[in-house]
Amino acid sequence: MSKRVAVVTGGIGGLGTEICKALAQAGRTVIAVDLDSREERVASFKQEMEGHDVHFAEADVADYQSCGALVRDIESRHGSLDILVNNAGITRDSTLRKMDRGQWDAVLDVNLGSAFNLCGHAVAGMQARGFGRVVNISSVSGQTGNFGQTNYAAAKAGLHGFTMSLAREVATKGITVNSVSPGYIETAMTGAMPTEVLTKITATIPAGRMGKPNDIARTVAFLTDDAAGYITGANVPVNGGLFMSF
Ligand code: NAD
Repeated sequence: MSKRVAVVTGGIGGLGTEICKALAQAGRTVIAVDLDSREERVASFKQEMEGHDVHFAEADVADYQSCGALVRDIESRHGSLDILVNNAGITRDSTLRKMDRGQWDAVLDVNLGSAFNLCGHAVAGMQARGFGRVVNISSVSGQTGNFGQTNYAAAKAGLHGFTMSLAREVATKGITVNSVSPGYIETAMTGAMPTEVLTKITATIPAGRMGKPNDIARTVAFLTDDAAGYITGANVPVNGGLFMSF
């Protein structure tokens, strides 16, 4: 069997980089998809991935046409697109009263619209080949809500609904669709938060620490394994016990 081909959106970000590494170590050919607006970041990512079967492709996941072109290009270059990790995400935090329509649209388009844009183009090929793994990176904010994040929490909660619905549609075709909900993980996204806020949050985490990007990457590698075919429509919280539910 030829190597499975995996796409990781937001692939050069904090979590994306670790997910790319973990999937490459699991024997996948990996394509990190991201904006190429910051050339230095792309260059340092490529350097970090040297020796791994990891490639970079530029695309704006909020753009439906651009996602279609990307999927067609990957399928023709690599033969298939078997694993899709919808990880690209942004925040534009503000209380609702101060939030403008641009902040709402940007967050919904990148965090939720992207899942439609990519799955909409990638699932047909997965169905035809009888194998697929989709993982949508959501957030604990989508489960609990969060002050200043009506846009982000709505997008991340929406991903759960998307995940469960698509999982039902493709379950007989060898395709699983799951979401992973990280708690607070040490990346640039959380690094931008004020230290006193992070200290307060950490005090409420039963594990007593923030998560590491690899905590998420290991979960994604597990869910995208060929042997994980009976887990679908699930949400896997990776949050150190911050929010427990069943
Ligand atoms: P990050 O900012 O380090 O990485 C996000 C990546 O997405 C960046 O490389 C960015 O360039 C890319 N991106 C943004 N808009 C894009 C677009 N339109 N097209 C293509 N790529 C785009 O953030 P991260 O912490 O690695 O977060 C990754 C995912 O995990 C996000 O979906 C985020 O919401 C989620 N998450 C993160 C945390 C955390 O604590 N870090 C917690 C919960 C959920």
